[in-house]
Formats: sequence, structure tokens, C-alpha cells
Amino acid sequence: MTGRFAPTPSGRMHLGNIYAMLAAWLSARAQGDRMILRIEDIDRPRVLRDADRWIMDDLTWLGLNWDGDPVYQSDRLDRYGEAIRALCGNGDDGGTDVRAVCADDGRCDDTVYGSETVYPCFCSRADIRAASAPQEGDGFVVYPGTCRCLLIEDPDAVTARLKAGRQHSLRLFAPDRNVTFDDHVFGRQTFNLARDLGDTVIRRADGLFAYQLAVTVDDLDMGVTDIVRGRDLLRSTALQLYIRERLRQAGWHAGASASEPEFAHLPLIDNAAGRRLAKRQRSLDMGVLRARGVTAAQVIGYCGWLLGLQNGPEPCAAADLLPAFSWNAVAAHREDRCVPDDPF
Ligand code: GLU
Repeated sequence: MTGRFAPTPSGRMHLGNIYAMLAAWLSARAQGDRMILRIEDIDRPRVLRDADRWIMDDLTWLGLNWDGDPVYQSDRLDRYGEAIRALCGNGDDGGTDVRAVCADDGRCDDTVYGSETVYPCFCSRADIRAASAPQEGDGFVVYPGTCRCLLIEDPDAVTARLKAGRQHSLRLFAPDRNVTFDDHVFGRQTFNLARDLGDTVIRRADGLFAYQLAVTVDDLDMGVTDIVRGRDLLRSTALQLYIRERLRQAGWHAGASASEPEFAHLPLIDNAAGRRLAKRQRSLDMGVLRARGVTAAQVIGYCGWLLGLQNGPEPCAAADLLPAFSWNAVAAHREDRCVPDDPF
């Protein structure tokens, strides 16, 4: 098995990030597994200079180690481009195809976009909001399929827009069927691809590869089999399993070596006001806590308590929590937690 830390370098990590990292580390190390560090710096507008170094420094300070060199998503753009081409070439029956002339940064001029697979989407955020069902708690917007209908009803209009250089994202068609997986904390989960997820963006209109695509490609390529993260990503897991399936149908990692991952989604950590901890809330970030003299053992002990592995927030080392670690213990306290503004 292989576990992963997959932080986005958009700021200094806070207590909620550390709690998730600790759970990922315990899950991997309790089984003697490899742990990789993947810096998810694909969303360039969100990336903060030096945040990758802070993350590595904080993890090391906390004793949460990983194996090998960190992997940067920004070094893997060619691979994500290949994945999109594989998905494009894997139409069920092709439906109404559009020969795109300006896709993939101009490098992919013979890609076929099929209405059953990948299609260009010209909708703005406002278009999508106006046409979508109200958002659910995790902020996930289910795309109503406007541009898929356009492609089926008026493929010439789509071709004309592409030829005119209209900015567009690429979406992967989501069929009307269920994806089911077992989560170590929240139990069996079932999502309907069309109703709960919708056609997902795999390349954004600004040309950047989408999180859902990059993460799926990386987890497959890196043999990640132990995925631990916040419960806000439960729905994304169903989507990533679907993208994974499509990639494998397209011949990616089709061999037996790519075993299916196991998943554990964690309750979320809220601040005293009941809002989810965010990197912009500085009081609980590692820079502030370390500057105040809070010790690594205090932070780990507190997070171990949040995970339900200790009766109280007593300071300890990460390795001290290994004997108490089990997903059953975490699942026994699976309600979201509130952290006071000054827990130490
Ligand atoms: N990079 C994502 C984040 O920091 C996590 C992605 C994942 O666990 O799949 O929220």
C-alpha cells in the first residue's frame, strides 16, 4: 500500500490540515506503508511562493515523514495532457463528434471530442449558476449539461465557436449510473454520476488542468492505495473513481498492478464560530503557533485527540499514537469538531 500527503501550497498549514496529515500518516505507517508527498501546485493562481517549503518544514518539525523526493504537479503537465487525449479517444460510440481546432494549448489539433466522452464547454460561472440546481453543503455544483446538449443539437455551432477561438473548458461526460465505494469512516457511499456529480471539468477554461483529473492521474501513476482526506471530498472520490475507470478503459494502468485504493474521509474541523478552518484564518496556522512556542508534541497530541485516539489533548509524538490508531476508533467520533481560537 502507498499513502500520500497531498497539500495545496496556498498558505501555511493550519490545525485542520495537520489533523488530516496526521491521519494519513498514521494510516500508512500503522501498516508499514510507503508515504509520498505530492505538492498540488497545479492551480497556479492559488499557489503562494515558499508555501511548499513551509509545508515540508512543518511536516518535518511534527515528525510526519515521507519517503523519496516530493512530487510537484507542476512538473507533470505533459502527463495530464496525455490523460486528456486518452479520454478523448475513448468514445463509446462517438455520438456527434467535433474536431477541435484549438484544444490543449494548440497542441492537440486532431483531438476528437465526442458527446459521449469529452466535450468543450463555453459556459461561464454565471451561466452555470443560473442553470444549476441550488448548491449542496459541500459547494459542489452539478453542471446541467448545457454544452453537451448544444453539441448534440448543433455541432456546427460548436465547431464554429472553436474555430473562432472561443475560450472553453473540457468536460467529461457523466452517465446516469451509480458509483459505490466503502469509506473507512463514513461507511458505504453511493453517488449517481449524472445526478450527484454531473459532467466534470477536466481542463479549465484558463487552460489549467483540473484538480479532479490531476489527482486521479497522480494517484494511478504513483500507485496510491491509501487515500485519507476531509469528508468534503466524499463526492469527489466517486468522481475520481469514475475518471480512473475511464482512464483504465483507455488503456492506462490496465494491468493487475493498479490495485483499487482504500478511502477514509475525516470529519471536518470548524473554528469557534462554526466555520471550517481556512488558511486565511491565521490564529491556528503553524507559523503563528510555532512562533508562540507551542510544541510539536502539543500539536500532534491535540490532533490525536481530535481524531478520537486519545481521551484528551495530551502532548505526544506521532509514533505514540500508532498503537491506538484504527479506523474504527476514528469512526466512533465522526461528527465535525469545533476548535477554540486559542486551544493551547
Ligand atoms: N490538495 C487537496 C487539498 O489540499 C487535497 C486533495 C486530495 O486529498 O485529493 O485540499
